This record gives sequence, structure tokens and C-alpha cells, in this order.
Amino acid sequence: MRIVVTGGAGFVGSHLTARLLEEGHEIVCIDNFMTSSEQTVEPFKAHPRWELIQHDIIDPVFLEGVDQLYNLACPAAPGHYQYNPVRTIKTSVQGVINMLGMARANGCRILQASTSEVYGNPTVTPQSESYHGNVNPIGRRACYDEGKRAAETLFFDYRREHDMDIRVARIFNTYGPHMHPFDGRVVSNFIRQAIAGDDITIFSDGSQTRSFCYVSDLVDGLVRLMNVEDFTGPVNLGNPEERTILELAEIILELTGSRSSLTTRPLPPDDPVRRCPDITLAREQLGWDPTVGIREGLEETIAYFQGLDFSEWTPPTPYWEAPPQD
Ligand code: NAD
Ligand code: UDP
Repeated sequence: MRIVVTGGAGFVGSHLTARLLEEGHEIVCIDNFMTSSEQTVEPFKAHPRWELIQHDIIDPVFLEGVDQLYNLACPAAPGHYQYNPVRTIKTSVQGVINMLGMARANGCRILQASTSEVYGNPTVTPQSESYHGNVNPIGRRACYDEGKRAAETLFFDYRREHDMDIRVARIFNTYGPHMHPFDGRVVSNFIRQAIAGDDITIFSDGSQTRSFCYVSDLVDGLVRLMNVEDFTGPVNLGNPEERTILELAEIILELTGSRSSLTTRPLPPDDPVRRCPDITLAREQLGWDPTVGIREGLEETIAYFQGLDFSEWTPPTPYWEAPPQD
């Protein structure tokens, strides 16, 4: 098949691309490198079935002969999506309209990378797909959360109006090699800090929870969702093992053998207190269950980070050093 992967130069997109190339497909990557580095796609450049279109999906683009479209383009780390919030929401609204238009013209199936952030700061746990969420519509996370919610709305309205073949995955925190070392996400921050011997920055007291899914498990879920018949989702894809942020820090210190100390920082506004997916639907409809445990996944990720020269990457200003924004 000829498959378009938007955001194909990003963390998840690069792993999805590798998997689809392995399966023998032809991949067209659409990416503007807003949050990724050319380094990530270097291994694909010589591949005869991989093509790059450097383009912002907010602007119209049209390709013919497309069989499937995975729409992953969107800044995903809080520091990245809050850097230019208007651009973030435009990506999930105007960009998504452009991608739905391309899929409609091609008559092809399209999958949206949605997020657990559609549940906001949830009042129920674990979160199942029937929960409608608790999002602050005017907070600093809203450009991402409300953007992704609007994207889901557009997907289902295009289906109702134009009978489109859609798929919506609600992705929970995913980690692995190819994460940007300075994206500010918790796994990349803690591993980088542990390797460098810097303090591990625990926001608040670290009692907030997340559920961490290894990237190969997520990619497997996305491919299953794209290829299953008669099922649109939305469906949660995540690892249901819930952990506190403090627990994560302790595991990373142990696996790296680091002597870094823990230091605390204020909790960013609207940071969800608990997050854990109910994956019953994914189990039933996709026969999907994560298989990679946290230690195994972190060991792979640590090995990748140990091979990076952090001085080659530009660190952004951490939010606690930036001028007050609220
Ligand atoms: P990432 O930042 O590594 O990758 C996103 C890619 O999209 C980057 O290569 C970036 O340059 C590109 N991009 C951003 N805006 C674009 C635009 N307007 N036009 C073209 N390209 C654009 O993030 P990721 O972790 O790989 O996330 C991929 C997708 O999965 C995102 O849509 C994200 O919202 C979703 N998701 C990820 C997670 C996670 O934990 N990784 C969780 C929930 C949802
Ligand atoms: N976090 C932290 N220290 C860091 C980065 C993040 O304690 O250096 C916390 C953050 O407050 C949140 C959790 O880790 O509670 C996950 O943050 P991340 O940015 O990875 O993802 P998200 O909040 O989008 O789930």
C-alpha cells in the first residue's frame, strides 16, 4: 500500500514508519520538523520506498494514490505544544480538515492520533472511552486538549456527512528511543538528568500518576486499529500499569545507576493528577494488550539516550524559569 504518515519524522511516527516499511509498504512522510530532528529520519533517506514532503499540514496539500493515512502531526509534549498554542490548535483543526479532505478525495481510510488528554484532569479512574472528560477550556493545556477534542469531532462529523472510513486512537503516555531529549516530557527529562548527573526534577510531590506504554506496543495497536474492519474507535491505547512519578524516578535512578538527587518544582497548571487507561475495548476489538514491561522498555530507552550527545540538541527554557504566564 501507499501510506501517508503525517508527523512521520517524530518519535511515534518514526517507529510506525519502520514497522510499515518492514511490512513492504511505500511511505510518504509529511512533516515540518517543528518538534523533530532530521537525525530521526536519516536511516530512511536511502530507502527506496520512503519519501519526505517537508510541509506544514495547516497549509493545503494534495496527494493522489493514497491507500491509508495516519495523522500523527501535532506537537505532543506540553513544552512543545504550549510554545506556540495557536499553531497547535490550528494543526488539530485546520490541519485535520486538510488531512480529512485528502483522505476523502482518495477514498482511503484515515487514522487520527488522539490522546488521553481529551479526558483532561479526570474525575474517574481508570478512564474508559465512555467518559467525556474534565478539560479546562481556557487553560494552558487547552490548545492541545481542546484541539484534539475538536479533531475527534471533525473525524466523526466527516464520517456522518461523507461516510468516511475513520479510526480514532486515544493514546496514553508513550515512551521509547527517538524521544527528543529536551522535549520536557517526564521520561526523557528523568533519563537525561540521570545520565548527566543532574537533579531529577519532580513536579509537586511526585504523587501524580501516569501509565507508560512502550512505543512498539503502541505502534502495534495503531496498525491493528488501522487494519481491523468495522470499528472506528475511539479506543484507548496505553499500558494500564499506573505509576506515580516518584516511582518512575526511582526506577530510572536504579536502572541508570545514577547518583542524581531529587529536587522539586511547582506543578504546572492543570497537570492531571491521575491517568490510567481502561483498555477493555482495545482487548475486545483489536486483540491488543501491551507486552513490554516498564523495566525492559526503560532499559531500551536509556541505551538510546546513552548514545546521544546532548550538546547537539538545543535545550528550551524550562517553564519554571520562564516569565509567569497565568
Ligand atoms: P513528536 O513531537 O515527536 O512528533 C510529532 C511530529 O509532528 C513531529 O515530527 C513534528 O515536527 C510534526 N508536526 C507537528 N506539527 C506539524 C504540522 N503542523 N505539520 C506537519 N508536521 C507537524 O510527538 P509524538 O510523541 O511522536 O506524537 C505523535 C502523535 O501522537 C501526536 O499527534 C500526539 O498528539 C499523539 N500522542 C502521543 C503521545 C505520546 O505519549 N507520545 C500521547 C498521546 C498522543
Ligand atoms: N513531570 C515531572 N518532572 C518533569 C517532567 C514532568 O514531575 O521533569 C511530571 C508532570 O508534572 C506530569 C507527569 O510528569 O505530572 C507527566 O508529564 P509529561 O510532560 O511527560 O506528560 P503529560 O503531563 O502530558 O502526561
